[in-house]
Amino acid sequence: MSQQRQYTILCPKCAHEQTVELYESINVQASPELKERLLHNRLNLVECGGCQASFRVDKPLLYSDPALRLMIYLIPLKGATVEEGCAQFGECIKRVNEILPQDIPVPSIHLVFSQVELVERIFLVESGLNERVVEYIKYLIYSKNAGKLEPEDKILLFNAEDSTPEKLCFVVQDAKTRRLESVLHFSREVYQDLLDMFDSDEHTPNLLELFPGPYINARLVLLKESETPEPPPE
Ligand SMILES: [Zn+2]
Repeated sequence: MSQQRQYTILCPKCAHEQTVELYESINVQASPELKERLLHNRLNLVECGGCQASFRVDKPLLYSDPALRLMIYLIPLKGATVEEGCAQFGECIKRVNEILPQDIPVPSIHLVFSQVELVERIFLVESGLNERVVEYIKYLIYSKNAGKLEPEDKILLFNAEDSTPEKLCFVVQDAKTRRLESVLHFSREVYQDLLDMFDSDEHTPNLLELFPGPYINARLVLLKESETPEPPPE
């Protein structure tokens, strides 16, 4: 079921105070129109009663699509660190754990920190792709384009719409301006090879080591790697 809660908010333009109903969770199988609103950037969109300005209110949101057994939790970071966001997610999983009867396994829930990441993850799962392998491909693309495509400045986003049976499509987004700048392709055959490789027992731990979760993001891994100095050679 989709759930709303009342919030008292201030208009960012004129500071008018009003009470609004915002979605905390949406079930897109029961309410497909809420998915449309999300994809068109119109979910939790508020019109100010004072100045009529429209603005989106970013709150934690649980997206669920039971038909795909898919649950994604969006926690807008709003200046918090990734570690703080992961801790908040951990607390929420703990609460789910407490509510569920013991014999029901806790469902696996994806974690994202922005609405762009949420939409990307929905399309990725709907395309039948594995999020860890896709993030690993981003990791490879960044590594192969060192000097031209820096994780500090550029974000890679999977683009389902322009992907084909032969190629996976990625869009390069500027981290500061948020402008979409260029498009990169990656062979789907190589994706399949990587998936098969990681599916074999021997390699699976490597991918889990690189992306232990709950937040699976190649850019974050690369940014962390660049912070840690290389150990001196023996
Ligand atoms: Zn206003």
